[in-house]
Amino acid sequence: MPAKRDYYELLGVGRDATPEEIKKAYRQLARKYHPDVNKEDPEAAEKFKEFTEAYAVLSDAQKRAAYDQFGHAAFEPGHGGPGGFGGFDFDINDFGFGDLFDVIFGGSASGRSRRTGPRRGADREIRLDISFEDALFGIEKDLELSRVESCEHCQGSGAEPGSSTKTCPSCNGRGQVRNVQSTPFGRFETVRPCNQCHGEGKIIEKPCTHCRGTGQERKNRKINVRIPAGVDTGSRLRIQGEGEIGSHGGPAGDLYILLSVRSHSRFKREGYNLVTTLEISFVQAALGADVSIDLPGGAVHNMHIPEGTQPGTILTAKGKGVAHVQGHRIGDLKVVVEVRIPTRVSKKQRELLEAFFEEGEEQKPGRKGIFDKFKDVIG
Ligand SMILES: [Zn+2]
Ligand SMILES: [Zn+2]
Repeated sequence: MPAKRDYYELLGVGRDATPEEIKKAYRQLARKYHPDVNKEDPEAAEKFKEFTEAYAVLSDAQKRAAYDQFGHAAFEPGHGGPGGFGGFDFDINDFGFGDLFDVIFGGSASGRSRRTGPRRGADREIRLDISFEDALFGIEKDLELSRVESCEHCQGSGAEPGSSTKTCPSCNGRGQVRNVQSTPFGRFETVRPCNQCHGEGKIIEKPCTHCRGTGQERKNRKINVRIPAGVDTGSRLRIQGEGEIGSHGGPAGDLYILLSVRSHSRFKREGYNLVTTLEISFVQAALGADVSIDLPGGAVHNMHIPEGTQPGTILTAKGKGVAHVQGHRIGDLKVVVEVRIPTRVSKKQRELLEAFFEEGEEQKPGRKGIFDKFKDVIG
């Protein structure tokens, strides 16, 4: 075992340092080397342990006197010195950051104001299924959601109206209990919420008959939600203040609505484009045609099929797609053309098709005689 370093040296103070100077020196070192702050540095924990031990001894008048007289031997097992403290078996892990906080930082950060002060309610997320059309055009919806609210009967106090509440005797209304532990290493102060009043500082003598003292009740609540045009599956809407209620006067959390858009039998979305397939006859594909497409929501789009359109051709109608949720742009309508080949033809159609074949498949422009006949018969 390497020789122990001098406690005064470890803390960087003189042998005549006042308790205040010792405490100040320790605070500075503890802030710098606390293992919770120096997770990367394995030596920090070792250093922290060393000077915490030094502080534990030097901050205690009796132990300091023993140390001054006998040095480290005062605390060694079997030493007949006046202390008889036994060996140090100091486990750094027994002292979390919170426990040491008061010693190190002068007791400013135990969260005492957070425990009883206003606290914001939790956010909440729900899923909502909407139709393809509603996603395209937007919609207002009334949702009914239940949430835990402040009890109306007792106005959230948890006490039956007319009954009294008394100041918690355990904590004298402070809602927290300060505990000073004397350890071989000094006095460690911890602050915890009071068990008896659960940090409220008050004790209810007669609990509210409506909420049984919880101060809360579950209520249904109507929320009007405006879903903007252009939303899609995975879109999340935030409704401010419709999450869980806060406590001690804190604001409510927010409600998030995660949207899921139902599919459509004929249309799908590709970003802000609306995509559909259109089946036309091979004669329409060859000769060209004007067809009407029923769009979601009831509108009709007249689409011109140019002559000589090939299967798989994608025709685009600019601005006939989906409105962008933000901004004024609108996507396009994309029509994928499928060409229907007849599986059965009549005698007349057969003759015409055979005549067409004999004519040669590729026609030069201007010779349309036989095509016009086709159109009448096959359509
Ligand atoms: Zn109540
Ligand atoms: Zn209490």
